Amino acid sequence: MSDYRPAATERPAPPIPPRLAAPAVDAHCHVDLLDVPVAEAVAAARAAGVERLVTVGYSVPSSQWCARVAEEHAEVVAAVAVHPNDAMDADADALGVIAELAALPQVRAVGETGLDYYWKRTDPAVQQEIFRRHIDIAKQLGKALVIHDRDAHADVLRILDEVGPPERTVFHCFSGDLAMAKMCVEKGYFLSFSGTVTFKNAPDVREAAAWTPLDAMLVETDAPFLTPMPYRGHRNGPYLVALTIRAIAALKGVPEEEVATRTAANALQVFGSW
Ligand SMILES: [Zn+2]
Ligand SMILES: [Zn+2]
Repeated sequence: MSDYRPAATERPAPPIPPRLAAPAVDAHCHVDLLDVPVAEAVAAARAAGVERLVTVGYSVPSSQWCARVAEEHAEVVAAVAVHPNDAMDADADALGVIAELAALPQVRAVGETGLDYYWKRTDPAVQQEIFRRHIDIAKQLGKALVIHDRDAHADVLRILDEVGPPERTVFHCFSGDLAMAKMCVEKGYFLSFSGTVTFKNAPDVREAAAWTPLDAMLVETDAPFLTPMPYRGHRNGPYLVALTIRAIAALKGVPEEEVATRTAANALQVFGSW
């Protein structure tokens, strides 16, 4: 998540956009925070051409929920972690549960973990230690790492350099600029772009997305947060990753099926097939 508070909105859910020209994957969403049943969220996604999604845990209960739902729904796999905003809650017991969950076959990544210097709900030193512990779990189990980096680019990159990143590392809701995108691609990290690429007030992210090679890119909603334009302020759902894919296709001047197909292939490479 980008904000630790669910988006409180009374505005209606946006309509399902026309189906994408090729199947797509929402690489990061919070199905437990949507106010619709899982089956309904999956059906809406499928109607828009979004055939698979990754539901991402941010606490022990949320991670347990994500692991269970991924077991029950063929379209869904899970990531598990304690969010950096709540890193103060990540004691040895909590990290033990996260490690057990991360070993499950339907759990494909450790995350979202990382650093959040915007909210700073937990002391940065504690966040850094808990980030390192999550990286350890991912490496030990051979799972992907899903990073939450808010206003903490330099420290996130430094810690990855210090400990050595897992083989597959994703910057969720990439919020860096062109220079940072180049650094990440150079290191073999995947950049996951969210609805922020549709926001007029995020020119740096748009520039980064326009440059980022399709073979290093994922797309995500971070639903229920970060609803793409023209529905900013309404509630988000995995089906709306279709709008983000279309925005990236327009930025790059390529057909939408190319963005959908290439980012879906990357998602399977990062998280394994499902
Ligand atoms: Zn998230
Ligand atoms: Zn996040």
